[in-house]
Amino acid sequence: MHPACVALKGGGFKLCRFPARAYVIEVGRDLWVWDTGYASHFHSHTARGVYRLYPAVTPVHFKNDEALILQLAEHGIGREDIRGIVVSHFHGDHIAGLRDFPGVEVYASQPGWDYYKLLKGLRAVRKGFVPGLIPEDFESRLGFVEEWEYGALPAELAPFEEGWALPHSKGEVFVVSLPGHARGHLGVFIRTAAGWILLAADAAWAPENYTELRQPAWISRLIMDDAKHMFQTLQKLHELHKRGKVKIQLAHEGGIPSTSVTESAL
Ligand SMILES: [Zn+2]
Repeated sequence: MHPACVALKGGGFKLCRFPARAYVIEVGRDLWVWDTGYASHFHSHTARGVYRLYPAVTPVHFKNDEALILQLAEHGIGREDIRGIVVSHFHGDHIAGLRDFPGVEVYASQPGWDYYKLLKGLRAVRKGFVPGLIPEDFESRLGFVEEWEYGALPAELAPFEEGWALPHSKGEVFVVSLPGHARGHLGVFIRTAAGWILLAADAAWAPENYTELRQPAWISRLIMDDAKHMFQTLQKLHELHKRGKVKIQLAHEGGIPSTSVTESAL
């Protein structure tokens, strides 16, 4: 939960739901997981010390049976079926489930990891990072998207021009940099049967941030990595939205009462 104004300037102080989404990307014979959402580990690692500030500022409503690993099991997917996890960025609501996937390879942005791995205590929590959520053997199974093939994107993804191809994804999945919200923040373009979709993670918190270029309120800048880059990314999403060839899906959209939030997002 957050006051809506954090996501949208002028949104008021009404508490709103911000669902923490995760995705499975099926491409060829591989299943990839994009982000992990919350997990019980979040509560245990934010119960003490300065880390209590995190749930105090963003109250988390999570029931243990909502864990991604259990949701996957309902679909007959075990962790041994997962080719890898790609994390969009290292904020707690995107990585809290990592400990539920022992032995699974994880991919992230190298500048992102280089930055967050050094943060501890108040400096970490101010940047939305909880070090205890990172498994002890994490670096031994961590790879970087920057090591994947980098090249030109299909023309219909303009104004985005270059990205990293997910291994063996045959031109159907490309990870791109969406800087500003967090260090090394990533999004992913996926060609689905219904057309291209961009999972834009936290590049925006509400569609109005990019459809109308309504900025998040100043308070959200406290956690933001770089406000200038964030706005440049919003302008790029705005352009992508106007061209109408790609559906944009944000990690947390759908919780703010608004006429422009579509039924499917709710
Ligand atoms: Zn975030």
